[in-house]
Amino acid sequence: MLKYTVVGAGLFGSVFAFEAAKAGHQVRVIDKRNHVAGNIYTKQIEGIQFHQYGAHIFHTSNEEIWDYVNQFAEFNRYTNSPIANYRDEIYNLPFNMNTFNKLWGVISPLEAKVKIDEQRAILNGRSPENLEEQAISLVGTDIYEKLIKNYTEKQWGRSCTELPPFIIKRLPVRFTYDNNYFNDKYQGIPIGGYTQIVEKMLDHSKIEVNLNVDFFENRKELEDDADKIVYTGMIDQFFDYTLGTLEYRSLKFETEILDIDNFQGNAVVNYTDSENKFTRIIEHKHFEFGTQPKTIITKEYPEDWEKGEEPYYPVNDMKNNDLYGQYKNMAKENSKYIFGGRLGMYKYFDMDKVIFEALKTAKVELRLK
Ligand code: FAD
Ligand code: UDP
Repeated sequence: MLKYTVVGAGLFGSVFAFEAAKAGHQVRVIDKRNHVAGNIYTKQIEGIQFHQYGAHIFHTSNEEIWDYVNQFAEFNRYTNSPIANYRDEIYNLPFNMNTFNKLWGVISPLEAKVKIDEQRAILNGRSPENLEEQAISLVGTDIYEKLIKNYTEKQWGRSCTELPPFIIKRLPVRFTYDNNYFNDKYQGIPIGGYTQIVEKMLDHSKIEVNLNVDFFENRKELEDDADKIVYTGMIDQFFDYTLGTLEYRSLKFETEILDIDNFQGNAVVNYTDSENKFTRIIEHKHFEFGTQPKTIITKEYPEDWEKGEEPYYPVNDMKNNDLYGQYKNMAKENSKYIFGGRLGMYKYFDMDKVIFEALKTAKVELRLK
């Protein structure tokens, strides 16, 4: 009998499997896709590491997580500095002195703050209750209109007045001329791509990997065969949606290989207008300072999620968080199952948080020091 069956060969499942195998347990990892690595999967096309499920930039302030991931790959010095294209006006992101200067001609941080203060006055000092108010309170109405409103409404498929404030708080606002998108201490892209990280985790004599296997099509055998199930798919699907369906956002990716060496001069360009239905164009080679003769670009179109589509983003508003809370209580009732990852825990986790959660789960479950 196996000790663990891990459903999902993404980052959570693979970190857990690696730790369990190191602790001496026999583990089976299944995935319904035909490859490992989940959404961090990359593969080489035209000599370029192609991020199949959207651009992934590793960043963390947690030294333990940085050291952990560095066991499996060497990281380059890539610093994410996306730009925004609003009807062919180009602005730097995140919102910083370069953005404020281009928009208003202001030179000093004090001038920028005065401008933002003037614009946020329309809130009359009340604390923000939705994303629109949060955005105006952080950066004023001009930036909200040109760089936030349309992008956010395309991304989440609803009005900024109906979205929770926390989504926009992910982005730094800086009164320095610094275009680094993240505040984290460590950042980079694994040289040679992300897939190798997961492949190395799963390359262990105690781990068996079975691809093209859907948990729900083989549930009985898989459950009978293992002491415990570590499940990283959608938690509502696990319980057959008995309490209701959680909402997710999905994406469609439109990829082209172009016979030119440089399409947009930057890895990430956000389209913050409402006319283009995609939110961003990724030019994959720039994550690795590529000098190949061709280039690969991907346009990212957000979509409503329906059963059968890929659930890329949980929608962590109050209604969905409440429903998730009820599923979480159901999950606690049976100690055979452990739920983890972005879909199993229904949280908008970045990669470093997923590794952190997987290590935390492994420590408790495997009684590691
Ligand atoms: P997943 O990678 O989704 O893995 C779950 C796996 O379970 C999948 O392989 C799936 O096929 C499998 N599975 C599900 N159901 C079943 C079933 N029934 N049977 C068998 N297998 C099943 N994070 C960052 O830190 N930086 C970034 O720049 C970044 N960019 C992102 C961009 C996009 C477009 C998206 C969607 C996410 C981004 N993330 C980023 C987040 C990152 O992708 C996640 O934190 C991470 O991949 C989550 O790992 P996971 O193991 O929880 O889930
Ligand atoms: N956002 C925006 N304009 C931008 C980039 C981001 O308004 O040009 C908002 C948008 O609401 C988005 C949120 O900031 O959902 C968080 O952005 P982030 O880049 O962290 O999103 P992710 O990488 O998860 O897609």
